[in-house]
Amino acid sequence: MKVQDLIDQLSDLNPEAELRIAYQPSWPMWESVTAAQAGTEEAQAINEDGLCSQCFASMDEHDDEECDGREEGVDVLTAEDAPAVYLVGGGSNHYASKSLWEGDGW
Ligand SMILES: [Zn+2]
Repeated sequence: MKVQDLIDQLSDLNPEAELRIAYQPSWPMWESVTAAQAGTEEAQAINEDGLCSQCFASMDEHDDEECDGREEGVDVLTAEDAPAVYLVGGGSNHYASKSLWEGDGW
């Protein structure tokens, strides 16, 4: 699923509903979503300052001396270019129903 698909589905739903994520259909659980976080394929957060595409350090604490990318200049991975967006759970999980996986979505 792409971000745009989710935007399309959410646009028809109650904007005041609590956003939750259901996961692990073999043992269904849900938890509240606390953030939509831009990230890398390796599930590392990309924050406002961006991430070095060589050493994956956040650019606000990037060490230009230590980074392997210093020779050719550092490419910065920004949230706008993020290959993935993670819906981040609040950590307090609850049992869910398998019916969530049998629905049609929206
Ligand atoms: Zn670097």
